[in-house]
Amino acid sequence: STPILEVKGLKKYFDIRGGVFGKKVGDVKAVDDVSFTVNRGEILGLVGESGCGKSTTGKALLRLVEPTDGEVIFEDENILDLSKEQMRRLRKDMQIVFQDPYASLNPRHTVEKIISEPLITHGVESSKEQKERVKELLEVVGLEADHASRYPHQFSGGQRQRIGIARALANNPKLIVCDEPVSALDVSVQSQILNLMEELRDKYHLTYIFIAHDLSVVKHISDRVGVMYLGGLVELTTKDQLYESPKHPYTQALLSAVPVADPDYEVDRVILEGDVPSPSNPPSGCPFHTRCPMAMDVCKEVKPEFREIEDQHFVACHLYE
Ligand code: SF4
Ligand code: MG
Repeated sequence: STPILEVKGLKKYFDIRGGVFGKKVGDVKAVDDVSFTVNRGEILGLVGESGCGKSTTGKALLRLVEPTDGEVIFEDENILDLSKEQMRRLRKDMQIVFQDPYASLNPRHTVEKIISEPLITHGVESSKEQKERVKELLEVVGLEADHASRYPHQFSGGQRQRIGIARALANNPKLIVCDEPVSALDVSVQSQILNLMEELRDKYHLTYIFIAHDLSVVKHISDRVGVMYLGGLVELTTKDQLYESPKHPYTQALLSAVPVADPDYEVDRVILEGDVPSPSNPPSGCPFHTRCPMAMDVCKEVKPEFREIEDQHFVACHLYE
């Protein structure tokens, strides 16, 4: 499988300003040296607790936030080198579906207007063509074509996320960043949306980066899964490897915290102590050492490299060096 996207050394630092003059007093390393590839047609899950940098990573890939450093190579082109205008054209190929379908849909616009917007941006000028495409897209996501004149509040949460998906699909994208698209939905609706997204992937040969805060959501849908902690990837491998044989102590802890006992996978229980440290003041050495049940002396001093310890299995941990 060939990569559609290669991310190399991606960083996003936010300034912390303070005092009367708003001088820079430090920075938050929201994303700190993240590298991974995404293969064409795959679903890559990206998981971690809130504040781990997964959403910022997703947005930085589309330059919805401007990366501080690194390369984002989409179909052999480093998109961080593109001008605003070139980037605008590329957005046709790279789309995002947001977590909160209510906040991301303009409440004063009809569904038709919401879905037409990206069509107009990318040159679909005739209103007849727009109307037809909107109807088609609504049907594709499982909504009634003649509900195009309704407003977002007239739909349920799950239906609103279907509208968000229809909008993302409007210009036949190749890659969709899905930023916790089911987290705000009732559990009963989550699997319907996940099934829809999987169907759409197959039907339109899409590639997804699927962001979630827990491993149970991405388990079914992902081909590979990456786990993030404090702005960095700590483990990345195939779904089966990750769930059957997690290597990083943080992944092991996340898996053992999955509330419903899962007979498919057995993992020794790991209990995490303490809170996630602040990304504005991350621990020295391994960022996980303050909570890691396996921590050794070296972990406080030296940051472990993110390296391939066996075929397709990347881990950042001194236990595997
Ligand atoms: Fe734990 Fe050390 Fe591995 Fe970090 S490097 S996860 S502290 S064992
Ligand atoms: Mg988020």
